[in-house]
Amino acid sequence: MDQDSRTNSLDRPLSRRALLKWLLALPAPLLIAACTGQTPTVLTQAASATSVPPTQPSATPRPTQAPPTQAPPTAAPPTQAPPTQAPPTAAPPTQAPSTPTAQAALVPTPACPTGNAVTLEQTEGPYFKANAPQRTSLLEPGMAGTRLVVTGYLLTTDCKPVAGARVDFWQADDKGQYDNAGYRLRGYQLTDAAGRYSMETIVPGLYPGRTRHIHVKIQAPNKPVLTTQLYFPGEPANQRDGIYNKALEMQMQDTANGKTGTFNFVLKV
Ligand code: FE
Repeated sequence: MDQDSRTNSLDRPLSRRALLKWLLALPAPLLIAACTGQTPTVLTQAASATSVPPTQPSATPRPTQAPPTQAPPTAAPPTQAPPTQAPPTAAPPTQAPSTPTAQAALVPTPACPTGNAVTLEQTEGPYFKANAPQRTSLLEPGMAGTRLVVTGYLLTTDCKPVAGARVDFWQADDKGQYDNAGYRLRGYQLTDAAGRYSMETIVPGLYPGRTRHIHVKIQAPNKPVLTTQLYFPGEPANQRDGIYNKALEMQMQDTANGKTGTFNFVLKV
């Protein structure tokens, strides 16, 4: 009797309420296993797998430490850039030599086919006065006489301009009189960068024993003084003047206001 009753109690299926109570009493893993049919061991691995990720982040800091080791390679390219910049800086030197030659070709120099002969020296005469004022016009209010502008270059024997040279003029007035008390019709100027000079004055008058002329003293920087005279072509008195020299004649032209004379002085510098 007792055995049968035990057997019956064991073989008797659990009621739905009793099964539910039994399931709720199970631990969570076992409960999930019971519902899904998976074994608890698999579940414990899955549970431990979900707990692994927190330990993985510790591995990510290492990748962030790696980039610093990658940074140097990125710093290397800048050292390659300068070589590409160097060629442009090397180009200007090739342009520099060309510009001086171009400037030299642009210098306005008179015709000089066979080179220049040094300007003849002549006596300064008795009327030179030192310390004349610096000016490019010797004209003064009320001054009588035909207006004259004398221009030209100061050059070397190989036709190079002489800049900054002192060109000192003095001459008689239209009646052949020198101002020995003051500096009337006396003055000096400096040649410009192209070796040019330009002096505004009057045509000098004649005085006994001389043809028409203008006195000049020229001195390049730190060079000896060249003293000479300028003459007018076609003057009857030229043939009677023992000092006159045709090589020192100016090229004359008539203008609306008077005359112009050109002459290029040549120094041995
Ligand atoms: Fe004189």
